[in-house]
Amino acid sequence: MSKITGCCSEENHPNSRRNVLKAALGITAAGVMGGIGLGLPQISYAAALTQAERDKLTPDQIIEGMKQGNKRFISGKMQQHDYLAQKRSSADGQFPAAVILSCIDSRAPAEIVLDTGIGETFNARIAGNISNEDLLGSLEFACAAAGAKVILVMGHTACGAIKGAIDNVELGNLTGLLNKIKPAIETTQFDGEKSSKNERYVDAVAKNNVKHTIDEIRKNSEIINKLEKEGKIKIVGSMYNLNGGVVEFLM
Ligand SMILES: [Zn+2]
Repeated sequence: MSKITGCCSEENHPNSRRNVLKAALGITAAGVMGGIGLGLPQISYAAALTQAERDKLTPDQIIEGMKQGNKRFISGKMQQHDYLAQKRSSADGQFPAAVILSCIDSRAPAEIVLDTGIGETFNARIAGNISNEDLLGSLEFACAAAGAKVILVMGHTACGAIKGAIDNVELGNLTGLLNKIKPAIETTQFDGEKSSKNERYVDAVAKNNVKHTIDEIRKNSEIINKLEKEGKIKIVGSMYNLNGGVVEFLM
């Protein structure tokens, strides 16, 4: 993999991976370590994560990086991702820091609302961000085989899958998927009208469904459970608000 592009090597480019990483680590020309603001998105500007870069990050730093990325998204000051450089640098290998399990909803694209780039996160998307055997296999691959350190389960407001489950919608293979949301409906504490027309109720179920999915992951994946208990990974829930654009981190 050549890092030479045109007349200038990436090493000398102000946005080169090394220079951006230095900025992320708070390393100045004088070699002073700041250590504040270190996080995933700051590294993502010009090139995909290397293994060394990813391995240095702790789960908490990765979560903080996602929070910072969402702040940039809300403010409209997202990083100018050099997708070509990210594509080039990740073609021979990937070292994503996190795996995100989120809904297929077209309005809730995790990589955009968290301002991450190519090669930084695995992304599993399924209606209602539920867990099943195949998704658990994907999460296990991401964490145990590929080294991701954070599992982020992301629900969102006004979720059609949640509404469908509340309304007992039956439609081909969707019926079975929506059944996986029903335990979250049953355990949602809510005072008020429990219908799909009540936005507050739909969002309360969606939030509880994120917790339920995390419970299912812990219960049904020995591998992930072990990694979490050893402190090698963190599992965190979140809700994306379609209106404000805020990703609320729940736990
Ligand atoms: Zn949804």
